[in-house]
Amino acid sequence: MQKTSLLIIGQGPAGLSAAIYAARAGVQTLVLGCAPKVAGDYEIDNYFGFPETISGKELIDRGTKQAQRFGAEIRCERVLSIHQGEQDRYHVRSEHGEYEACAIILSTGVARVRPGIGNLQEYEGRGVSYCVSCDGFFHRGKKVMVLGEGNFAANQALELLHYTREIRICTQGKSVDIALEFQEKLKQAGIPVAESKVVSLLGTEGLSAVQYSDGTEEPMDGLFIAMGQASTSDFAASLGLVMRKQFVEVDAQQQTNLPGIFAAGDCVGRFLQISVAVGEGALAARAAIEYVKKLCAKTSDNP
Ligand SMILES: Cc1cc2nc3c(=O)[nH]c(=O)nc-3n(C[C@H](O)[C@H](O)[C@H](O)COP(=O)(O)OP(=O)(O)OC[C@H]3O[C@@H](n4cnc5c(N)ncnc54)[C@H](O)[C@@H]3O)c2cc1C
Repeated sequence: MQKTSLLIIGQGPAGLSAAIYAARAGVQTLVLGCAPKVAGDYEIDNYFGFPETISGKELIDRGTKQAQRFGAEIRCERVLSIHQGEQDRYHVRSEHGEYEACAIILSTGVARVRPGIGNLQEYEGRGVSYCVSCDGFFHRGKKVMVLGEGNFAANQALELLHYTREIRICTQGKSVDIALEFQEKLKQAGIPVAESKVVSLLGTEGLSAVQYSDGTEEPMDGLFIAMGQASTSDFAASLGLVMRKQFVEVDAQQQTNLPGIFAAGDCVGRFLQISVAVGEGALAARAAIEYVKKLCAKTSDNP
């Protein structure tokens, strides 16, 4: 497991801004995240200092190089889960590795892919869950389904093995996008993956069955939503972060309710703009720098 002082999740304006401040202050900084949505051929007309406009791609490229110049390590890796470890450290699992961090800045933007099931909301908390580490326990020995097409869904399904063996993955009609390594683990655990689509949920006292697009029904006790990649809401659910709808609640220093966990940018939901994300990234970094320097014991990874 690789150790780092500060782990930033997200390579958008908030994450990169935080990385620039933290790395420049001498804090060992690792950024996990790939090019954000705005890093395309979009004209950014309202960001300070570019009278002739700048493309989203160029702005992100420049921010990335700037953070790297100060020593931040940036990897295009999607984070699958975060859990609290021992001695106030956090364990982060990505598609490619495992990390231990003293402090974390969440800057994952806003994106939760909805599965497109009409009556899903009716069953939230009554069989439908977004968090295996929160609700897996309630499904001990029961039959459960994970909805999702990628590594996030695969990881959630594998985590469910702590509670039950009756697990299946349904991709909601999408093509399977699970790395071979995860596919192998699913196979070994006997977890089938189907490219079918659930359109409706059934049950009076709570979820008891799912209905597929071809009209067939299958008894089901639990449904775990893990479409696309893990979002801040998923991390918040497993860590116990206070949320305001889909946004993370933070104080004026971008501190969440958990020590060592900060959040910045769109995932905080104040004003979804680059300038705000950059400013909040700087504030989150300032708080994280102070936290790391005061509270993280000196280790060989935190010289
Ligand atoms: C097409 C478009 C045009 C826009 N135009 C403007 C504009 O002109 N002016 C303006 O001010 N704003 C504009 N915006 C809004 C602006 O882009 C956002 O407010 C800003 O990018 C938010 O920054 P952020 O760092 O919070 O999140 P994002 O930029 O959304 O970055 C999120 C980062 O998190 C990463 N991530 C997410 N989940 C995971 C995970 N599980 N593991 C690892 N990484 C993860 C993503 O890969 C990405 O790197 C535009 C947005 C879009 C989509």
